[in-house]
Amino acid sequence: MQLSPETRLKAILDGTGAGTWEWNLDTNHVIFNERWAGMLGYTLDELAPVTFATWERLCHPADLALAWKALRKYLDGKGPQFECVVRMQHKDGHWRYIHTRGMLLDGQGGAHPRWLMGTHLDVTEEKVTEHRLSQLAESIPGIIYTFVMEPDGRYYFTYMSRKVEDFFGLTAEEACANAELLFMHIHPDDLQTVHDSIAESFNSLDQWACDYRVINSGMTGWLRGVATPERDPDGKVTWQGMVINVDDEKRLELELERQSVTDELTGLFNRRYFIRKLEETAAQQDRYGGEFSLIAVDLDHFKEINDAYGHPVGDAVLKRFGDLIQRRVRKSDVVARTGGEEFLILMPQTPLESAAQVAEDLRCAIESERFVGDEKQGFRVTLSAGVVSCREEVFTVRELLSVCDRSLYMAKRQGRNRIMVHR
Ligand code: GH3
Ligand code: MG
Ligand code: MG
Repeated sequence: MQLSPETRLKAILDGTGAGTWEWNLDTNHVIFNERWAGMLGYTLDELAPVTFATWERLCHPADLALAWKALRKYLDGKGPQFECVVRMQHKDGHWRYIHTRGMLLDGQGGAHPRWLMGTHLDVTEEKVTEHRLSQLAESIPGIIYTFVMEPDGRYYFTYMSRKVEDFFGLTAEEACANAELLFMHIHPDDLQTVHDSIAESFNSLDQWACDYRVINSGMTGWLRGVATPERDPDGKVTWQGMVINVDDEKRLELELERQSVTDELTGLFNRRYFIRKLEETAAQQDRYGGEFSLIAVDLDHFKEINDAYGHPVGDAVLKRFGDLIQRRVRKSDVVARTGGEEFLILMPQTPLESAAQVAEDLRCAIESERFVGDEKQGFRVTLSAGVVSCREEVFTVRELLSVCDRSLYMAKRQGRNRIMVHR
């Protein structure tokens, strides 16, 4: 059986739950369907006579201007259809959000009469959910966002909560319009890491997690981002994520990290860090060849200094000696206080003779210093040192340290205040 077009259209409209409206722009005549009245708790009869003023009366006064503006825009040809969401009052007094859409029925070549026709859909539930979500987004101490990356590498944000203003100094609208504005605030040293981790998550679909610094109004802060990716059939990946401020946590973490590798008294590195660096350097030399050198230093008769002037004076000597070494080595060298009055210096890419020269300079430098004890003229301190270098022959780190120690011991045995180079 063939259904008439009218029956089919009515069935479709009933199926969508849409109210319909028709408005003659010339005569102001309006027609609404029963569903339209039902949306607001009425029957058409109850509202009769239905005129244009009926709609205006039921519409929230604050939303009328919005509707007029949207209509004007459409009639001026700026948009494919007339569209707006306005509040309409239900019979029992509460407000419903109504999504209004409409189009001009083209009277063949613009001929009169001009009818504007469209639908009304109740979107109250969506509006309430949207409102609840945005309130939720504002209440958490971070940014919630949706980030999209196309298979060709283009990326953009489709949602961003307001907090982005606090973290990045730009509005959610700005970030959604141009993602680059946000990326520009990421610390230059961390930008590559951020991009790499996004690419990694894009490929693996593993959760994205990254700590990075952001610069906002000249201030640097640490952020932590986490986001869950999902790939569409067309290959693009969408992440739902959150960014929180981890400044305090990060500063604490970095400080603990610093403390764990630092000798408190001198501010030099400690033994643990030194051994780690030595192993790294040895592994590199093993792979790429080259030469690195090691100096072991022990202050002479240090016990006597402590005994004569007290422990605090001994501490001051250790500190000053630490500074003295630092001023004589390169940035790439690693200096550690590895025991009471024992120091190790690792010199990557340095031949034995250069290291021996540095050790000798150090010996002279401390010898010519004057340290203040309880007498006016001050006292002198000397050192003994062992120097060794690691060339092609493969020393283990342990062997290397023990050869260096043996050289140092020989320097002591031969009368102190001297360096012994293992050739
Ligand atoms: P040698 O020339 O043989 O090296 O003699 P030494 O007295 O320097 O060697 P020894 O190993 O007998 O003594 C080291 C002294 O260093 C013992 C200890 O009191 C002192 N010492 C170790 N750590 C510290 C420290 O942190 N501060 C101070 N002030 N003294 C320390
Ligand atoms: Mg000593
Ligand atoms: Mg010692």
